[in-house]
Amino acid sequence: MSLKFYNTLTKKIEDFSPINPLEVSIYSCGPTVYDFAHIGNLRSYVFADILHRTLEFAGYKVNHVVNITDVGHLTSDADSGEDKMMKGLKREGLPVTIEGMRQLAEKFENLFKDDLKALNIKLANTFPRASEHIHEQIELIKKLEQKGITYETSDGIYFDTSKDPHYGALGGLTDTGEARTRVNDTDEKKNNRDFALWKFNGELGWDSPWDTGFPGWHIECSAMSQKYLGETFDIHTGGIDHIPVHHNNEIAQSTCATGKPLAHFWMHNEFVTVESGKMAKSEGNFITLNTLKEHDIHPLAYRYWLLTAHYRSPITFSYEAVEAAQHALERLVYALSEYKKDGDGVIIVEWMDGFEKVLFDDLNTPQAIAYLHAIENSNQSNADKYRTIIEIDKVLGLNLEKLSEDIQDIPNEIKALAEKRSALREEKQWEASDKIRTDIETKGFHIKDSGNNHVIWRPLASLI
Ligand code: AMP
Ligand code: ZN
Repeated sequence: MSLKFYNTLTKKIEDFSPINPLEVSIYSCGPTVYDFAHIGNLRSYVFADILHRTLEFAGYKVNHVVNITDVGHLTSDADSGEDKMMKGLKREGLPVTIEGMRQLAEKFENLFKDDLKALNIKLANTFPRASEHIHEQIELIKKLEQKGITYETSDGIYFDTSKDPHYGALGGLTDTGEARTRVNDTDEKKNNRDFALWKFNGELGWDSPWDTGFPGWHIECSAMSQKYLGETFDIHTGGIDHIPVHHNNEIAQSTCATGKPLAHFWMHNEFVTVESGKMAKSEGNFITLNTLKEHDIHPLAYRYWLLTAHYRSPITFSYEAVEAAQHALERLVYALSEYKKDGDGVIIVEWMDGFEKVLFDDLNTPQAIAYLHAIENSNQSNADKYRTIIEIDKVLGLNLEKLSEDIQDIPNEIKALAEKRSALREEKQWEASDKIRTDIETKGFHIKDSGNNHVIWRPLASLI
């Protein structure tokens, strides 16, 4: 079965085949590590993970690079006009030095990786840090300089977009020159969309052939993707906000330097929105994975909720919606924990074929989730349902096998209480038995009677 993905570059769904028939190279724009990632950011990495897992399911080896932006947003940002890393340094009370930036970056890089683990996202093969690739960025800028595509202003070295006849290959350009959102606007710029390759900064920065300073934001992705994946690679991913500026600029820099395409496929995920619109700290609706946990939402329930929407559709966050997703996931996990008791089954080929069909059709995860429930509701044997759902979950990454074990991991103390309650029920001592039920539930477990028997399980929220 052939894989088909929507390619932002051609605006079409296309058959996918990699440059190397055995291995797929992916570059995903990573986080700026000055603060916690919000749940919208995390959608980008859940999407890239589904892509990664789908390619492995299709039999490819995957070489995945996710960059860590720990320098380079030192000019302006759309929210406040203040630089992101600087903002972080001030907030954390850290010194405005390279050492301070490293400390800030290390903290939030580690927290970012904790989020990835909590969401069961496969770690990339490489997480290159921009600050550790200053040399590569300088070399790339020198190459562009030699080709006469750059110019100097009083505050930096700029890319002259008028020298690139193909500038804006991904589209999404607006007349307002959106390149200004992430680089300092200067009257000396020749064209609205020109962007900084190197920013001068006498106080804090690295030596360069020009002046002390920092690389611009876009150049890190061109330099690091080339280093780890070569001049042309298979798939580049990111959120849709990156299309008009960052990704057009990456393409301009890389293709002008090498004369080759940067990536064959460009794939972009839509946004997680909140009812008031954009999720941003300044809007007071900045929700992190920790905020969800405080609301008793398991990170994997958030992953499940994301998968119920196609990655190219926007999805509006509400606690009610994610809680409903958590209930659906919990029911499925509980069913699996019961199926498992029936022993070994086999993978049902027809279900796998149907799943593959929807997944390979531009990663249709909502239909893939519907498959899980269709199998659950089918009249196949429990053992076969279990094996097939766990096989499908290798791609969906909901960690169902582990959750279905954990959900039935009941301490002896609770089991003893439940036995005592059964004995009281047999003696028709309803009041006393109800008291024990409340006690069990207060301790975070569910108990349900079936005939003369009972079942106990843990709600997902108790597994956070
Ligand atoms: P940043 O750290 O700002 O560079 O963003 C990291 C990733 O999150 C990028 O791929 C962005 O495009 C993406 N992103 C930012 N906000 C959202 C959102 N609300 N929903 C989905 N993706 C987002
Ligand atoms: Zn990037």
